[in-house]
Amino acid sequence: MESEELKVLENYITRHNLKITHQRRAVLNAFLNSDKHVSVEELYTTITETEPKIGLATVYRTLALLTKSGLALEMDFGDGQKRYEHSYMHAHHDHMVCTECGKIIEFNHPLIEKFQEEVARQNGFTITSHKLDLFGHCNDCG
Ligand SMILES: [Zn+2]
Ligand SMILES: [Zn+2]
Repeated sequence: MESEELKVLENYITRHNLKITHQRRAVLNAFLNSDKHVSVEELYTTITETEPKIGLATVYRTLALLTKSGLALEMDFGDGQKRYEHSYMHAHHDHMVCTECGKIIEFNHPLIEKFQEEVARQNGFTITSHKLDLFGHCNDCG
């Protein structure tokens, strides 16, 4: 697969004197085919279907590479699982996390974004990225 994302990863990997291995490619493909907010364990299970010899450590390290190269966003909703979602060419959003059932609601509010910029400006601060996670209960869980 010659995707834009593969080029981004290859670029990053070459700049850092690493190699694009068969296993790293498999992790990238599984990640690109994954749903939003996929956990490392879920990805690992998928990858082992085609790469039974891959180690969990390789999956972790490759996901770290994907994060550093700007393809993935890493998130931690406090349930003991690192999760990832697509970052390359995707619009920014924030998250609401139900602490009962684990449901994740995505949102984007222009005023929240604007006020963050305003607060940063008042403090002479330049925001390069941000994460906003709200925790609570969804409709189903009351
Ligand atoms: Zn819920
Ligand atoms: Zn999301």
